[in-house]
Amino acid sequence: MPSSPSLRLILGDQLSAAISSLRDANPATDLILMCELRAEACYVPHHKKKLVLVFSAMRHFAKQLQARGFKVKYVRLDDADNSGCFTTEMERILTHSGCRNCVLTEPGEYRLRQQFEHWQAAHPEYNFEIREDDRFLCSHAEFARWAKGRKQLRMEYFYREMRRRYDILMAGSKPLGDQWNLDRNNRKPMPASVQPPAPTRFEPDTITRSVITQVAKTFDDHFGDLDDFHFAVTAEQAQQVLAAFISERLPLFGDYQDAMRQDDPWLYHSHLGAYINLGLLHPMEAIKAAEQAYHQGLAPLNAVEGFIRQVLGWREYVRGLYWLKMPDYRNLNQLQATRPLPRFYWDAETDLNCLRQCVQDTKAHAYAHHIQRLMVLGNFALLAGLDPEQVNEWYLLVYADAYEWVELPNVHGMVLFADGGIMASKPYAAGGAYINRMSDYCKHCRYDVKLKSGPDACPFNYLYWNFMAEHAEQLQQNPRMALAYRHLERMSAEQRQQVDDSARIFLEQLT
Ligand SMILES: Cc1cc2nc3c(=O)[nH]c(=O)nc-3n(C[C@H](O)[C@H](O)[C@H](O)COP(=O)(O)OP(=O)(O)OC[C@H]3O[C@@H](n4cnc5c(N)ncnc54)[C@H](O)[C@@H]3O)c2cc1C
Ligand code: SF4
Repeated sequence: MPSSPSLRLILGDQLSAAISSLRDANPATDLILMCELRAEACYVPHHKKKLVLVFSAMRHFAKQLQARGFKVKYVRLDDADNSGCFTTEMERILTHSGCRNCVLTEPGEYRLRQQFEHWQAAHPEYNFEIREDDRFLCSHAEFARWAKGRKQLRMEYFYREMRRRYDILMAGSKPLGDQWNLDRNNRKPMPASVQPPAPTRFEPDTITRSVITQVAKTFDDHFGDLDDFHFAVTAEQAQQVLAAFISERLPLFGDYQDAMRQDDPWLYHSHLGAYINLGLLHPMEAIKAAEQAYHQGLAPLNAVEGFIRQVLGWREYVRGLYWLKMPDYRNLNQLQATRPLPRFYWDAETDLNCLRQCVQDTKAHAYAHHIQRLMVLGNFALLAGLDPEQVNEWYLLVYADAYEWVELPNVHGMVLFADGGIMASKPYAAGGAYINRMSDYCKHCRYDVKLKSGPDACPFNYLYWNFMAEHAEQLQQNPRMALAYRHLERMSAEQRQQVDDSARIFLEQLT
């Protein structure tokens, strides 16, 4: 513990009682600083519901710290002397308090880490300590060690090491059920007769209501609807969401993980991502709760393994990759995509029903599930050659769980293949048949998913073949794309021409 008083900084996504910056904090001498900042709300103009979630969770967390006896300097958005910038606020409080020690858990985003490191370098008069964020289950050094010397950084192998290391779903040195990955038992379409339970909701309390009023007033021009806010804003509420997920949704999580349904983005997903990323829930708590449900016979292995792979595998893997590859990663544009983001990503006004549904869900809830993000919104961005910078900015601001460390690899790598295959072994490109198989969207669409070209054909169909043809030079040597390229070669010149014409007309209208 620093021997003299210290200032402990808590960022908006560090709302964990066990955060490393507070570990040795002394309530009698130390001061905790938390700030609501315009710069953070606006560096991309975040969805209004996301802002309410973060600010309300921060205010609740500050109250809990005060209840534990800590002195908290909480700078509110509307405080007259709020400069809007974290390092300026920090300097102001340090000067007033006379504190020489400062402790911070490393920020999740590269941009912020740089800001603090620059400040540290410019202020040698302070003893400024930046600590590792050990809420993650794999440190930067451990990930770098795993990645070193590997030609390909495939998530599957990383995930197996994490299972071994934490002894999760293991039978000795082997995976339970003798397979590491049970996805072939998952990914089922959801029959109309299946009715998923409603998501866990919380009525806004006084704190949340006052944040809603403030966000409505201050960030009125930001994307997204504010009405019907029902997210958890405390660790206790996040625990309730976890408990409801384990008992009501986990058993069918695997089966319907990839399914999509008109007017319902919640389905059998956990809805925990935003809470884990904020710090209201530790990832290991979610993993252990799911593992325990399997051992108690409450959920089958395909569901439990599928869920644990997302949290222990994907989540840690994307974070590791982000820090390994930044800052160059975000500037990669392997497929040289430059088309501007169409307006319907904001207003949902499009005849493509799948896209309309996914944008509407996103706008209403600051949420869409993984397959909506990947196979509808992302697939379209890939096939239409949308500019990675604009697509990344969109994903970063629209989702309540979005922070650059997790958003960027998912969008830049998994969706847009802008990193040339560092993350994904092939682009996740698909025509309308996939969306039709996994959803009821096509039934309500003005386009015909069975038609391959022409004004009534599903645009995903001709955009898919147009994409394959355009990027043949880069992609056709990829063994995982061989089947698609054989199909393309078998198409007649007339079919190819029809696809080209349909794609050209559609893309011209798009811009
Ligand atoms: C284009 C795109 C953008 C995405 N952007 C984000 C983002 O900004 N923030 C974010 O947290 N997730 C992001 N994801 C991953 C995933 O879609 C969300 O974590 C998930 O939809 C959150 O909803 P849920 O909690 O109901 O997740 P569930 O489907 O219930 O999954 C359980 C948990 O696994 C973790 N998880 C699952 N998939 C991933 C993944 N690919 N990367 C990291 N963690 C994962 C999350 O913690 C999630 O809560 C993105 C995926 C894609 C394809
Ligand atoms: S027909 Fe095509 S555009 Fe319409 S919902 Fe289906 S996949 Fe989407």
